Amino acid sequence: MSLVNSSLFRPLDLGFTSLKNRVVMGSMHTGLEDRFYNYPKLAAYFAERAKGGVGLMITGGISPNRQGWLLPMGGTLNYRADVIAHRLVTRAVHQHGGKILLQILHAGRYGYQPFVVSASRIKSPISPFKPREMSHQNILDTINDYARTAELAQQAGYDGVEIMGSEGYLINQFLSRHVNRRKDRWGGSLTNRMRLAVEIVQAIRERVGDQFILCFRLSLLDLVEGGNCMDEVILIAQALEKAGIHILNTGIGWHEARIPTIVSSVPRAAFVDYTAEVKQHVSIAVMASNRINMPETAASILDQGQADLIQMARPFLADPEWVNKAQSGRINEINTCIACNQACLDHTFKNQRATCLVNPQACYETELRYLPTKKIKNIAVVGAGVAGLSAATVAARRGHRVTLFEAQNQIGGQFNLAKVIPGKEEFYETLRYFEVQLKKYDVELKLNTQVTHEYLEQAQFDEVIIATGVVPRSLKLQGADSPKVLSYSEVLKGAHVGQRVAVIGAGGIGFDLAEFLLKSAHQSVAEWKKQWGVDPTSHYQTAGGLVIAKTPKPQREIYLLQRKNTPVGAGLGKTTGWVHRAELKKHGVRMLAGAQYQAVTEEGLWIELAGQAQLLRVDHVVVCAGQESVSYLMPQQPLKGKTHYHLIGGAKLAAELDAKRAIRDGAELAAKL
Ligand code: FAD
Ligand code: NAP
Ligand code: SF4
Repeated sequence: MSLVNSSLFRPLDLGFTSLKNRVVMGSMHTGLEDRFYNYPKLAAYFAERAKGGVGLMITGGISPNRQGWLLPMGGTLNYRADVIAHRLVTRAVHQHGGKILLQILHAGRYGYQPFVVSASRIKSPISPFKPREMSHQNILDTINDYARTAELAQQAGYDGVEIMGSEGYLINQFLSRHVNRRKDRWGGSLTNRMRLAVEIVQAIRERVGDQFILCFRLSLLDLVEGGNCMDEVILIAQALEKAGIHILNTGIGWHEARIPTIVSSVPRAAFVDYTAEVKQHVSIAVMASNRINMPETAASILDQGQADLIQMARPFLADPEWVNKAQSGRINEINTCIACNQACLDHTFKNQRATCLVNPQACYETELRYLPTKKIKNIAVVGAGVAGLSAATVAARRGHRVTLFEAQNQIGGQFNLAKVIPGKEEFYETLRYFEVQLKKYDVELKLNTQVTHEYLEQAQFDEVIIATGVVPRSLKLQGADSPKVLSYSEVLKGAHVGQRVAVIGAGGIGFDLAEFLLKSAHQSVAEWKKQWGVDPTSHYQTAGGLVIAKTPKPQREIYLLQRKNTPVGAGLGKTTGWVHRAELKKHGVRMLAGAQYQAVTEEGLWIELAGQAQLLRVDHVVVCAGQESVSYLMPQQPLKGKTHYHLIGGAKLAAELDAKRAIRDGAELAAKL
């Protein structure tokens, strides 16, 4: 499909300025904005995306004052001295023809620090700190702080600001009855609840004039009890337009909502109908967001008139060149964000620098560089799992001659098992990306080729990269050789599985396997909304857009077991684990911690639980008990010849292996060869 002439690349005229296309990189907290000494790195990160063709970018959230910090000592733009560091960013973006807004974010009761304040004194379920209720004067001072930060943003060279009014942060806390229980002029009626938002916009407008882009991110669907309904959302949007904003951005779901909004199991563009609804009631530019990651989806939203701009955030961590590739008809070359959150949001929540599972250069632009090689080498990569694919493509891109060997008839290794899990359909995109990269950089791919020691000894490679990955761990257990016992790999490749199943091992793969046995892939938006209790009506009348979720009919009876006594699923991703736990609970999966496996017999699986022997009457036992490295090709001692050997990915270390480490391992090694 060619999108060369698509509406995605049409400029947007805002009257006093214009955006060169309809693609916006949404705000993401990278961790670099919190320390001024990291601003050169932050500038390089934005410059890369501006070079890649993004029309407009929005920075990570910067608080207007100390009370609004998300984390202690977060990044600021509250004093004249702060302007110097921010100028590095704006200059770098403008040099490459981009535009950039500073996002002003006051965390309110979501702040992870003791000075937190909010509309009312109600603690949020996601921060341990109970907020202080803001006084009238405190509110006026805060409005002034917003205006002051916007003024400093203008001095720092930003093209405008985005006011963060969604996802449950301070302004959203005032907008909604969910938190706002005030009886004064800042609470009660909708006019009062939206007063803070409107006065912030007016104060900023007064301070910066009308030649400075003002964008407001409004929650179009709160997904919390007591949240606003669509009539209220529209009235707020109209009031903000009147107060002087140029762009209305979409926010979906508060952070405390128990409905996922951006993880990979959320269907693409699932929330665009709500944006389209609001767009009919305002005349400013409206931006769609959430789970839009590929050009076809983005272009179709614009073509159907559902929005004027498309905001994507994580897709630009995955591929800074997204726009240029789409515009020049190279959609197949896009490194697609798979919505895993593993290296971006999960890092942010652990206070680590964000990066990207499929693109380890993200936020490391000045540190992990793929420079052309000065000495071309002959390199063999053994194993075309993601570690081998990453090493082969980076080495070839740098100019080396690379041969990639794979024993199977396709590339991908374990990723071929991951991609069939319902909700992980995006993993196909990563394999498509690597396939195109192999061709682009002339990697010689030898499928169906099991490499041996003898072959490697005879062949005259300068470097050999062993990326032979992992195999599932088999269990030493009485009855383990029974046909009742299957590995996850056998099941995901199509082995028959009965109605009653015990899954041994409750790590990421145990959870995935259980979902595979319970659900079908490619859930439609309508099915997904039913399952999670999201009102599918675009002009919804329900508070927060919540309806009663439909309980699925369990397709199988499943036990999910682990030996540890910790809560089952505690080790899953910080921002995604709760979704997997909720999915399995809905399907009635019984999760048992502290199990000791005794034997598999004709009757089922015998376990000991809290000192008691128990029989789980199951048809099959599926083993998801981790993996073991396949590293036999790695010489035990350094060899005398000229060939250098390297070990990466699962072949190097199976414990705690994931694709994030495998891909980074490959890229870091290949960047140095
Ligand atoms: P592998 O994928 O094991 O690849 C090794 C390759 O080497 C294989 O293709 C093998 O055939 C080949 N090979 C072996 N020996 C030879 C030889 N002698 N000659 C030639 N070729 C050889 N990770 C995440 O980060 N996030 C997830 O959400 C996630 N979900 C998963 C879901 C499932 C169901 C599974 C099974 C895994 C999941 N993973 C996930 C884990 C992730 O897929 C692996 O960590 C990663 O793919 C390991 O990559 P690798 O290249 O090191 O090894
Ligand atoms: P894992 O997360 O390490 O889980 C292995 C499970 O097997 C644990 O529940 C462990 O718990 C159990 N186990 C380990 N040794 C055992 C033994 N000898 N006998 C019985 N049980 C044993 O590994 P995984 O599930 O295989 O996943 C592999 C990697 O892929 C993980 O590192 C994960 O990050 C990644 N992955 C990620 C996702 C994701 O959504 N982010 C999804 C899938 C996979 P006990 O020791 O308590 O029994
Ligand atoms: Fe997307 Fe995962 Fe990369 Fe985050 S880490 S940007 S979710 S691919």
